[in-house]
Amino acid sequence: MTDSTTTIVVLASGATAAVPTPLITGDGVESPRFVGVSEEGYLLVEAYGMTYGLTPCCFASATGSMIGDEPVICCRACYEEVDEFLGGPMTVADATTL
Ligand SMILES: [Zn+2]
Repeated sequence: MTDSTTTIVVLASGATAAVPTPLITGDGVESPRFVGVSEEGYLLVEAYGMTYGLTPCCFASATGSMIGDEPVICCRACYEEVDEFLGGPMTVADATTL
C-alpha cells in the first residue's frame, strides 16, 4: 500500500492499533474496511462479503504459493512468507472490535 497515512485506533481492550487510514474511511463500496484486530495482532478487514487478515509487511491480503514443493502462505504484495493464520478463513467474530 503506497498510502502511508495511518490512524491510531483504540480497541475495546484498550490496546491501540495503527491502521492505514483508507481502511477506516473506505474509498468505495468494495474497498476493504477495518473491522478489528485478531488475537494474533493482525489487522482484519471486510471486503466482498469476506473477512480476512492483512499482512504486517504491506497491509495486503495473503495468498497461497509454493516454495519448492512446499505450499506456503505469502503476502500478495511482496511475496514474503507470512503466518499461516492469514491464509485461513475467519469471521468478524475473530476480531477484537472497536
Ligand atoms: Zn508484504
